[in-house]
Amino acid sequence: GPVLGIETSCDETAAALLAPDGTVLAEALWSQHEEHLPYAGVVPEIAARAHLARLPGMVRAVLEGQPAPAVVAATVGPGLIGGLVVGAGYAKGFALARGLPFVGINHLEAHALSARLPSLGSPPAFPYLTLLVSGGHCLLAETRGPGEHVLIGTTRDDAVGEAFDKVAKLLGLGWPGGPAIEVLAARGDPGRFPLPRPMLGRADCDFSFSGLKTAVATLVDDYPPGPLPEREAADLAASFQAAVAETLADRAARAMAGFLSRHGRASTLVVSGGVAANGAVRAALAEAASRAGFALAAPPARLCTDNAVMVAWAAIERLAAGFGADGMAIAPRPRWPLGCPAREAA
Ligand code: ATP
Ligand code: MG
Ligand code: FE
Repeated sequence: GPVLGIETSCDETAAALLAPDGTVLAEALWSQHEEHLPYAGVVPEIAARAHLARLPGMVRAVLEGQPAPAVVAATVGPGLIGGLVVGAGYAKGFALARGLPFVGINHLEAHALSARLPSLGSPPAFPYLTLLVSGGHCLLAETRGPGEHVLIGTTRDDAVGEAFDKVAKLLGLGWPGGPAIEVLAARGDPGRFPLPRPMLGRADCDFSFSGLKTAVATLVDDYPPGPLPEREAADLAASFQAAVAETLADRAARAMAGFLSRHGRASTLVVSGGVAANGAVRAALAEAASRAGFALAAPPARLCTDNAVMVAWAAIERLAAGFGADGMAIAPRPRWPLGCPAREAA
């Protein structure tokens, strides 16, 4: 029977029902952007209450007229604990009431496996490289299979989406900042401001974005208080976006070179997370991948940002790989590094 997936780790409330072969039968997604807009950032308490208010109705809508689910899956970490408690608690209650197995999903693993959704066509074969670029994360991993992820690089300070959001704030744009920067950057000159490319050429696969953000802040400080002139703002947005794209492509190229020397052959670079929606980032990654002989798999934007389809799909992949259901003992956890078994992370 179908798998019901639930996602509440951050500011997206989502439910999805997938057939055992991965076909999406029904899907509901609600971004709480309005709720958090006045604070220009996600407020954990508001997020948890909003998940609680919306989730039951969304699950009902997704199940309407569909075959009854046979498995229930929910993100149990990492993320904001209030939202995780709501989503995982709801999912467990649902499973318990109907005598169904419960699968607790690592949100990062769900992002890493999302490119294998059958509806996207030609799923990348294991092992492949995963680049996760979102509001809360920036990491590179070798994905060898469900439950088998080797972390090969991570950010030393800010996540890349966080950098987009902070720079957007400096430029007086709305929140979330990534999409606003991309729109503004389209009218700007990416070569106007020579911003730093942090970590470029380093031997490891780590990231750092705080220096780049500070460089933008320093430039903004040179102008009189108040909104920047349109031209300057557009050029700064374009220059920042170009610096991020080049940095991500460099780090991914480093990881692809490492993969080649480990395995003696190329594979796929999978990119996921909200920043993967960015056209300049995608173009830079596509070029880096093609230079390394890798394929690039970038799911459509609605699957790159948080959603429940990837949660249900991760459960299908885990069950198919022989991992049993988790049972009710698996607890929500705010921290859960990719590649760390559930028991050790708890
Ligand atoms: P997590 O890190 O736990 O996966 P999240 O909700 O913060 O969760 P996502 O929903 O995957 O992450 O992505 C949101 C981030 O992506 C925000 O920081 C947003 O600014 C950024 N983003 C979204 N669209 C774009 C875009 N077109 N260009 C650049 N950044 C973008
Ligand atoms: Mg989000
Ligand atoms: Fe996410």
